[in-house]
Amino acid sequence: MTARIYCFANQKGGVAKTTTAVNLGAYVAASGRRVLLVDTDPQSNATTCLGINPRTLSATLYDVLIEGRAVQEALTLTERLNLDLLPSSTDLAGAEVEMAGLLARERLLARSLATVSDKYDYIFIDEPPSLGLLTINGLTAATHGVIIPVQCEYLALEGLSLLLNTVRQVREILNDRLVIAGVVLTMYDARTNLGQEVVDEVNRFFPKETFQTIIPRNVRLSEAPSHGQTILSYAPMSAGAMAYQALAQEFIQRVEGAHARMPQPSPARS
Ligand code: ADP
Ligand code: MG
Repeated sequence: MTARIYCFANQKGGVAKTTTAVNLGAYVAASGRRVLLVDTDPQSNATTCLGINPRTLSATLYDVLIEGRAVQEALTLTERLNLDLLPSSTDLAGAEVEMAGLLARERLLARSLATVSDKYDYIFIDEPPSLGLLTINGLTAATHGVIIPVQCEYLALEGLSLLLNTVRQVREILNDRLVIAGVVLTMYDARTNLGQEVVDEVNRFFPKETFQTIIPRNVRLSEAPSHGQTILSYAPMSAGAMAYQALAQEFIQRVEGAHARMPQPSPARS
């Protein structure tokens, strides 16, 4: 069996791509599935969210993509979480320019992930906030589609046509399996009417793709990264944790048609 590979993309920054990739990954891993998280953002947010300082690493995704190092040499294993990480570093900022001169430059990530794909059930790729070569690599590597986080705010869908165009082009030229596997509504604020309007609009636009689970705005979700923790370990009883757990169950139900057992959160750990 090879992993189902998904990428989390939206060229807008701050829509919760990283928060969703990390915390959905944590709950899918907690349900017993083997998960690899791949950080393709030079800002390394997913890497630091898992408590890893990119400056202490001897090899990262940069070395894999540009220097041809083996993925295993760059993997950071977090057995505690059943979640491995292919970390990023600031070097990646220059990678797009260096990749441009390489053969099959859009497929570098796909080829690298193929070497470890049989060791995982899921590979989640966290993308940078752009539509550059790193994002194209993620879309090309995604065997099971792209998941688009959308923030519940004014003009939520604005600019999404750019991403949809890129997805279409990648499907035509590089990855004919590429589908929109899901749309996640994030940072929902129940106190505003606007939130509900965005939910309705996104559901109209993506009726099949939009997950029913809506991620609320929750301060614990924004605190967890500064403690180097996922929401599952930082505040498992919080509304944000409950939402990502529900999203993981809905995701697994959609993908596998199976009910996912989750560990019982205990207040002592929050
Ligand atoms: P992206 O990866 O799309 O740039 P992030 O996942 O880094 O977005 O999220 C942007 C910021 O919003 C981060 O500071 C994150 O902690 C915060 N955040 C994300 N989701 C939520 C939420 N549901 N409630 C509150 N803060 C959130
Ligand atoms: Mg991010």
